[in-house]
Amino acid sequence: MSPSSDESASPLCFACDAMCGGLVRWLRAYGYDTTYTKGVEDRELIEHALREGRVLISSDGPMFERKVLRDGTLPGFRLPRGLKLLDQFREVVRVFRLPPLDARCTVCNGELELVGRDGVADRVPAKSLIWATEFYLCRACGKAYWNGSHWRRIEVVRRRMAKLAGEPA
Ligand SMILES: [Zn+2]
Repeated sequence: MSPSSDESASPLCFACDAMCGGLVRWLRAYGYDTTYTKGVEDRELIEHALREGRVLISSDGPMFERKVLRDGTLPGFRLPRGLKLLDQFREVVRVFRLPPLDARCTVCNGELELVGRDGVADRVPAKSLIWATEFYLCRACGKAYWNGSHWRRIEVVRRRMAKLAGEPA
């Protein structure tokens, strides 16, 4: 595993390649600091993951033939090809036994801050503003989140995955 995860309680963080766009959003919604890199060479992605102590996720076979991944210098996870999106997510949660953390911004990976209704009045549709009871703002990009129907669908998946993480391997 990564050097930073040995004894400290800091959760794993991930670096995904261009093929894992959907998975990136799920990992962020599940609370994991996950970067998404498009249009860079394998070498750059590897350097980025090493520099920031991230687990590299890719479905690119040749990537995993590189020495740093083979010898475990860089922890990596080779995503089996042909998995549906939720199965990809399930596989990562299962392999790394990830408990759910506070959701992050699915767009930019920023941390979300709980705010009052007034804090999002200009960013949330009027109807949602009335019905929703929890509102969050991304500290980085300012995107608003609230516990509406989209959120509830995400919550269902988060709970299902949480169970998976708690089961014996
Ligand atoms: Zn954001």
